[in-house]
Amino acid sequence: MDKRDYYEVLEVPKTATAEEIKKAYRKKAIQYHPDKNPGDKEAEEKFKEAAEAYEVLSDPQKRARYDQYGFAGMGGAGGFSGGGMSMEDIFSHFGDIFEGAGFDLGDFFGGGGGRSRGPRVRRGSDMRVKVHLTLEEIATGCEKKIKVRKLVQCKDCNGSGSADGRTETCPTCKGSGRVIRQQRGIFGMMQVQSECDTCGGEGTIIKNKCPKCGGQGVIRDEEIIPITIPAGVAGGMQLTVPGKGNAAPRGGVPGDLLVLIEEEEHKDFVRQESDLIYNLLLDMPTAVLGGQVQIPTLTGDVKITITPGTQPGKVLRMRGKGLPRIDQYGRNYGVGDLLINVGVYIPEKLNKDERKLIEQLQSSPNIVPGAADKKNFFRNLFGI
Ligand SMILES: [Zn+2]
Ligand SMILES: [Zn+2]
Repeated sequence: MDKRDYYEVLEVPKTATAEEIKKAYRKKAIQYHPDKNPGDKEAEEKFKEAAEAYEVLSDPQKRARYDQYGFAGMGGAGGFSGGGMSMEDIFSHFGDIFEGAGFDLGDFFGGGGGRSRGPRVRRGSDMRVKVHLTLEEIATGCEKKIKVRKLVQCKDCNGSGSADGRTETCPTCKGSGRVIRQQRGIFGMMQVQSECDTCGGEGTIIKNKCPKCGGQGVIRDEEIIPITIPAGVAGGMQLTVPGKGNAAPRGGVPGDLLVLIEEEEHKDFVRQESDLIYNLLLDMPTAVLGGQVQIPTLTGDVKITITPGTQPGKVLRMRGKGLPRIDQYGRNYGVGDLLINVGVYIPEKLNKDERKLIEQLQSSPNIVPGAADKKNFFRNLFGI
């Protein structure tokens, strides 16, 4: 299938503002949302197509490049990294799109469009869980199975809440889910529209309630949820697993599971973005004579060569031995480094023989630094 023009995909003119593009994407995202189109491959493709178009058109730099060069401007053969966007990628930036939009995402899955216009289909609430990761797990990415206690669909009634599978139109609101009441206000009598108490806004009632869930369609239970953690995540990041939050009463749309990443302290390394820092303390003879020392990496110990005359304060860099770098969409772009801070241990306690040796050294010509040595040493260490 040929790629469609991004503006055509979102049905916006080339002159559309950022806000218009966002709005147009929101509309498409809702229309083709997989929760609304279960098992519909075409809808899923359209959903992804819209996400890709939005990813480019919402970024001023990418948009400018696209305007000028078309798909060829998006780099690479067949062009565009977004072609490989997974559903998780797409959902992961949903927060930005719907944030501040002044409505609840749940409204859009209500079928009727808005709460005032029709019966409401409920959306289950989101759930938050924390997952603790070691740097080793972050380096490779991993699969975590998390046990969550949450609302799940009642199996006895398949989530309908009804023992016999039947529901009836609510006699109070006649299926609209809304009732209009007269209410006395400061300016006299007013008409107020509100949710129907009889059916809770759903427009239907159940006469013969499922005994297991009491007509709710959901029960509290444990579920083990596998979560795929991409490589390179960091503490404080949040992943969204769509549809794995609390189930909604009576067959609504489930909420999302929000997974907060927490990073465990490592015994050897301190993380600095995608780089790792390791402190190496050399003994004096090795710093002077050079030699091989063993240092840990996330993939096992390695031997490195210390050149003779290595000064304390030197930083050695092992390229590619850090953590994978990921951008805001979770896409990988290279790997960080392992930085080795070199210190030299000056012994604090000496026995008689050692003291004698050091005293002998003191009177030896190459041991005491000259003016040039001093200058070089501090320049290398502090840059001044
Ligand atoms: Zn009602
Ligand atoms: Zn039930």
